[in-house]
Amino acid sequence: MKFDAKAFLMAVSQKNTNESEFVQAVEEVILSLEGYLNDNPVYLQDKILERLVEPERVIMFRVPWVDDGGNVQVNRGFRVQFNSAIGPYKGGLRFHPTVNLSILKFLGFEQIFKNSLTGLSLGGGKGGSDFDPRGKTDAEVMRFSQSFMSELYRHIGPNIDVPAGDIGVGSREIGYLFGQYKKLTKDFSGTLTGKGLGWGGSNIRTEATGYGVVYFAEEMLKRVNQSLNGKSILISGSGNVAQFAAEKVMQLGGKVLTMSDSDGVIYAKEGLSEDVLTHVKQIKNLDRGRIKEVAEKYGIEYLVGNNPWMIKADVALPCATQNEISGADARGMVSNGVGLVVEGANMPSTPEAIEVFKENKILFAPGKASNAGGVAVSGLEMSQNSVRLSWSRDEVDEKLKIIMKGIHDQAVKYGAQDGRVDYVVGANIAGFKRVADSILAQGLV
Ligand code: NDP
Repeated sequence: MKFDAKAFLMAVSQKNTNESEFVQAVEEVILSLEGYLNDNPVYLQDKILERLVEPERVIMFRVPWVDDGGNVQVNRGFRVQFNSAIGPYKGGLRFHPTVNLSILKFLGFEQIFKNSLTGLSLGGGKGGSDFDPRGKTDAEVMRFSQSFMSELYRHIGPNIDVPAGDIGVGSREIGYLFGQYKKLTKDFSGTLTGKGLGWGGSNIRTEATGYGVVYFAEEMLKRVNQSLNGKSILISGSGNVAQFAAEKVMQLGGKVLTMSDSDGVIYAKEGLSEDVLTHVKQIKNLDRGRIKEVAEKYGIEYLVGNNPWMIKADVALPCATQNEISGADARGMVSNGVGLVVEGANMPSTPEAIEVFKENKILFAPGKASNAGGVAVSGLEMSQNSVRLSWSRDEVDEKLKIIMKGIHDQAVKYGAQDGRVDYVVGANIAGFKRVADSILAQGLV
């Protein structure tokens, strides 16, 4: 039996009309698995692939809440419980006006492979709402989060589904969600991760995704006898992932030239200082302001528009959102000397951009491998909650490094060809194999 990827993808696309992001994510995985599947036909039996692209369950619900003006507002909530072959569903919640089923299915699908790569017992899921926390007061965010959890609590639990944060869901939102979950269930459990350190959270969880991205980049460079020390780095975004990627790059001697938000980019030719980064954290996490304010305070160049990819640099770490690097951006990056692209966000590179990186032999890591540090430390938070212990920063950081190295090594194992590594192929095969073997072992469920 020969696997026909094109026909398979056509069927997925016809069945999931209007879900372009989901179809894009499936395409990236399936095309890179084609050769492996033909060499290992055991994975073509029992419709494993057809089962893998169909979520086990999708929950969609109304979220009514009252704003500060006393007006009733209605948002839509989702939880996509995609695949539980290797553990309870695990994946973040995103609160952003662009959230829809396609985006959450793409994120949930990616999460299956990412979680598998960590080596931990974590299935794939994702959820969120089209609620926009921007411009809302704390009281409004709390009332929305409580209403959201008033439905979601029925569907989650420490051994069922363990949500965490994502875009628009940080420590404030996790706090409100956890409080409401506890009130409704009377159960203080590890059902959400990203909790505060005083109430069940793990050291390094806040930093984990960004730090993990940089540990992964260092592993890739080490393989070719290089390091980040002295290199110039473009970072997009200024949220959780971007902030801690920037912090770790600076600690390792790299120069962070840019950070951004959806309005514009700050650009420092000689590199952003630690003081500036501290101010970015203050503005973004506490004042909930715009990155332009950082440029104004420190006299840093500010480029209107949300894209740093036209700037000359050695390395790019896209840490904002999906499809933020177009084919044209990628060509610009190549001609500007970028030799390494490591994804912090989920699917920030369009398929055309990935093609450009491939053609030009740019070292490229897909998010499902390089940004897995966040979910990995969430997994460690679940373990600490289960045994009611709290590990030190150093202990968790060490485990994170080991996990990122393990993911890198698996991607190399399955993606090496003629002395080069295709990290997309390597990560997809390694992530797929563990899940597919588990699906086969568990029968038709
Ligand atoms: P945050 O909400 O903390 O930050 C998001 C950042 O991206 C902000 O600077 C935001 O700017 C910018 N951004 C969001 N949407 C857009 C857009 N449409 N165009 C331009 N900029 C945009 O989110 P995180 O840092 O947590 O997440 C960033 C990415 O990393 C996402 O793709 C997420 O899925 C991924 N990720 C996150 C993990 C985590 O642990 N948090 C784990 C693994 C992956 P603005 O303020 O203007 O909206």
